[in-house]
Amino acid sequence: MVINEETYTVDQAQSLRLKRMVWGVGVQACTMLIVGALYGMGMVPGLPVMIYLGMIAALDLVFFALVKTGVNLRFEDPSMTARQITLSVFPVIYIMFHVVEPQARMVLLLMGTSSLLFGMFRLGRCGMLLMVGCILGGYLGLLVALSLWAPERVNLLLEAVVVFAYTCVLVINAYLGSVVASMRRRLKTQNRELAELATLDPLTRLPNRRSLMAQLTRESARTERRTDEQDALCVSMLDVDNFKEVNDTWGHEAGDRILCEIADALRGVVREGDFVGRFGGEEFVIILPETSLDDACAMATRIRDTVAARHFSGLPGGGQVTVSQGVADHRIGECIEDTLRRADDRLYQAKDGGRNLVAC
Ligand code: GH3
Ligand code: MG
Ligand code: MG
Repeated sequence: MVINEETYTVDQAQSLRLKRMVWGVGVQACTMLIVGALYGMGMVPGLPVMIYLGMIAALDLVFFALVKTGVNLRFEDPSMTARQITLSVFPVIYIMFHVVEPQARMVLLLMGTSSLLFGMFRLGRCGMLLMVGCILGGYLGLLVALSLWAPERVNLLLEAVVVFAYTCVLVINAYLGSVVASMRRRLKTQNRELAELATLDPLTRLPNRRSLMAQLTRESARTERRTDEQDALCVSMLDVDNFKEVNDTWGHEAGDRILCEIADALRGVVREGDFVGRFGGEEFVIILPETSLDDACAMATRIRDTVAARHFSGLPGGGQVTVSQGVADHRIGECIEDTLRRADDRLYQAKDGGRNLVAC
């Protein structure tokens, strides 16, 4: 199972991957220190140490290059976690073969456990167990190699106990790691759902009033820095006409379906860069950045015509619904609540004028 990273942008995910690689290099550095100490004590010859360091450097360089160039994004798992854990087994097994003192080998075995823990960021239970199999397979391969070429350095009876103990440690780590991973997944999903709850209207899936206000605040701040009249910020306050009657005649559920259809119509008609949300009840707000008041009124008229021409499947016989709008432009220095109030005043003028109207 794969952790869903869609909450991150590609750049964020890539920098997270690089950060985890740096952590991995930190663990490798600890292992290198141990190997250095063993070399210092004469427990491992110099040439294998050099080859070991070369293997690690080559692997790290390749993985860093893959992320830096973005080539990893073409892989099914761009974090390459399983590949990194699997390949990091080889240099350690190689150097363990050359360690003359069996006791010293155990120290390196211990370090092998830490690489498994990196799997919890990405791998599920099966993936973690596969990594356990890979690490154990590597160690068993080492024992076979030692039995064949350096039998004086291996006590197979004792190694059977070591392999048993190591299997237990790895499986427990893999299990705990997969529990942590599934907790992370659940937390991410919950965070996403909470973020949606806080910003989206559950009925129409449009941004809610809170998002609308946040967007208006952002847009008004941007507009304050501009001078050109064409760059004005306009808002249209839209209210469904005689909606109470719709509810009373066809029922609340039909009313809900109409609100969703109106939301769809609004989504379809606004331009890229415009922002539409549900202000509350049967009221919607359309934010039109970098738009003159004339253009905003033209857009509001287009919205009115689109809704009026639509046959609503939520109404028996594909009935029709109309909307009224009040459009206002944001004045420099004015707070957004005042802009909305002016749009609302105009909306009432549209209602007074007979509905299915745009008041600018
Ligand atoms: P006007 O043309 O003056 O706007 O008349 P109206 O009937 O639309 O206005 P009024 O404010 O009297 O009624 C609004 C109605 O919208 C009343 C309320 O029950 C209904 N409404 C608000 N939110 C929802 C909703 O989420 N679902 C449904 N079905 N109805 C809603
Ligand atoms: Mg209303
Ligand atoms: Mg209404």
